[in-house]
Amino acid sequence: MLKHKQTQTRTYWKTLSDEELLSKELTTDDPEKLQNLVSELPEGFDDSYVEYAYDFRNSGRDELTCIHGHHRHRAGFVMRKGDTRWLVGWICAQSIYGEKFDEYTADYDAAVIRHDSLTRRRELESWILPFITWMEETNKSDIFRFYDSIRKQFQHKMPWIWQQGRAILHEALATTRFDNFFDEQTDLTKEFADAMLLTSANFAPLIGKSDLKLEVIVKAKTTLLRLIAKVEQTVDKLAQLADLFQPKELDILVRWAKEGDNPKKRTYSSDLNSITCKRGREKSRIQLPTNFRLPDRLKLDELKKRLEAI
Ligand SMILES: [Zn+2]
Repeated sequence: MLKHKQTQTRTYWKTLSDEELLSKELTTDDPEKLQNLVSELPEGFDDSYVEYAYDFRNSGRDELTCIHGHHRHRAGFVMRKGDTRWLVGWICAQSIYGEKFDEYTADYDAAVIRHDSLTRRRELESWILPFITWMEETNKSDIFRFYDSIRKQFQHKMPWIWQQGRAILHEALATTRFDNFFDEQTDLTKEFADAMLLTSANFAPLIGKSDLKLEVIVKAKTTLLRLIAKVEQTVDKLAQLADLFQPKELDILVRWAKEGDNPKKRTYSSDLNSITCKRGREKSRIQLPTNFRLPDRLKLDELKKRLEAI
């Protein structure tokens, strides 16, 4: 019976769930300030576990008192049984517990490694999961469909503006801000899909993984910052659409189109979030959808701040 109990305490840390382990401290700055510290070895002392290991040998801290012979030491263990705690210097541990003390420390050492690993996983998942959620929400939204649709409408309904828009806005506003919008090659749907693939390729293998090394975390952080920068570029391009439908920009397009595009046949006008071209009785209109919403950049900003603070 006793032997069975001993085996249990020597695997105390092993029996804790991840949550339980994460809720425990595994280091202490001041073992002597701990509650319920006793100075005489209690009965059944071997039915205990290593709660903390400490090493103050390079700290210049005052020596601690060992339960075995009350001698002074700077490196040792806080042993625990029930609520009771006692300090054992690292050399004396062997005299009290003998060879089997290795089993007590092995359980503790494994717990330290597991605790670190769980902490890293928590850390990693606390950046990656919100980013993946943001990507999925953005991908599911109508934003890319709207962007493509408006571009197609310009191509078909107002080809003159489609072809001249870029040069007009260069000339009138001295800006290259709308270049992507009027560029045939632009494909934001694909651009974002590529970023989704990269996200998944980089991070899917890390989720739920328990033996994450520190290098993996550091690399993941760099990768995530790079991916955020990449999707921010895409969001900037999407934002061009909203800017293009501002009154000032629409007014410029309308004025230039009235003069430049076959004025006897076609006439242009703009209204809130829309531009209209009339040819005789035929009227075509391009309207920014009322439910047009840009992806939430604040979430990316928050994430970047957190990553940069590490
Ligand atoms: Zn001692």
